[in-house]
Amino acid sequence: PPSPPRTRESGAKPPSALPTAPAAARPSSGAGGEPETEGPGRDTALLRHLLLKLRATGPVTVAEYMREALTNPGQGYYTRRGGIGESGDFITSPEITQVFGELIGIWFVSEWIAMGKPKAFQLVELGPGRGTLTDDMLRVFNQLASLLSKCDVSIHLVEVSPKLSEIQALQLTGGKVQSNPEDSSAYMKGVSKTGIHISWYRDIQDVPPGYSFYLAHEFFDALPIHKFQRTEKGWHEVLVDIDPEVPDQLRFVLSPSRTPATEIFIQPEETRDHVEVCPEAGVIIQRLASRIEEDGGAALVADYGHDGTKTDTFRGFRDHKLHDVLTAPGTADLTADVDFSYLRKMAQGRTATLGPIKQREFLKNMGIDVRLQVLLQNSHDTVTHKQLLHGYDMLMNPKKMGDCFNFFALLPHQRLVHPDKKHKRESKSPLPPVAGFSELLMK
Ligand code: SAH
Repeated sequence: PPSPPRTRESGAKPPSALPTAPAAARPSSGAGGEPETEGPGRDTALLRHLLLKLRATGPVTVAEYMREALTNPGQGYYTRRGGIGESGDFITSPEITQVFGELIGIWFVSEWIAMGKPKAFQLVELGPGRGTLTDDMLRVFNQLASLLSKCDVSIHLVEVSPKLSEIQALQLTGGKVQSNPEDSSAYMKGVSKTGIHISWYRDIQDVPPGYSFYLAHEFFDALPIHKFQRTEKGWHEVLVDIDPEVPDQLRFVLSPSRTPATEIFIQPEETRDHVEVCPEAGVIIQRLASRIEEDGGAALVADYGHDGTKTDTFRGFRDHKLHDVLTAPGTADLTADVDFSYLRKMAQGRTATLGPIKQREFLKNMGIDVRLQVLLQNSHDTVTHKQLLHGYDMLMNPKKMGDCFNFFALLPHQRLVHPDKKHKRESKSPLPPVAGFSELLMK
């Protein structure tokens, strides 16, 4: 049988010594006559666009390069390709087994109960990929219909890729959607197979305010990072430039002096020599934290990452293999580990935070073992049995996704501590523990 597809968590090798970029931007070479059509192999339309830009204005930050490679409106990887799944470039947990999305769905229902069963909630997913995770959660909501019958549930998907939003619409609504509806900040609307309203947005800021549960699975790792390196002369930013030795090839260089980003993002107490910072992740966490503080709800973030300890994690994936990040931009997925310590800092105390906790612990607490047994008992063919066990192993095995994937949550302070605890200690029943971060207790 073919070997299992690779997930994206494998480590990357640190860059060797980098040359320094010329101090000033080079003048445009004026070279015209770029070929019109997409060349084979390494030569891509996006590479040609970047070469023109670099010739005109000099090196760009890794963040700008990553943003272009992933979400350039015409040529970005997610915009055009977005190859998630076995036949694509990388595989994610919801694409491996239905159990993953079901347990996440139960997490939200359990938090909804713990927060006193509010009359309505929006489920907001950032970067929903193929829509599989939402679909699995909607199935759980439908199975728990008697519990949720009085609650007005709506789905809100934040997705920049027109191609992936089309795939999501097909999966979730059978393709029956309305584009650019009037009187709405959404760019697309539809109704799920189970009758739940779904809206699509390009930015979290377009999602209407209101009591919301937020979900980001393998979303933050796709946001652009800045890279910094400590040198004898202090911190310098890693930039992307044209290699003068090889025609049409990109290379990493160091900024000749400190860039504005170096001043802002490197903490004086930093001990590492290489640091990656994702300011966009910080901005989004700030938004989520303020929204939760104002309107209530919770956010669940799941991704591979670290707690402010790793150094070089920027890497590319194409066809389930590691791919050089600077080669053929737009044709490979680029990713960097999520720094959970940075996310925690960016919540700025507006909400409480929980985690990061390892995926295998989170899923165990959510009852994955019981769920697996039920599914095994309900199916009688060996192929399904094998698939279920394989999926469980991929998610839980510490050598596969069990240890390197983490769960992290933002919750209103009052979810963890009674606001009046200091005064009337005995007056209230104890708050229920947060499922996943401790054992699930659902009544
Ligand atoms: N959550 C899915 C997909 C992960 S891939 C899964 O686990 O299978 C990353 C997703 O984020 C894709 O849907 C991609 O198009 C989307 N995305 C990437 N950058 C984005 C941005 N800046 N804003 C909104 N969505 C983005």
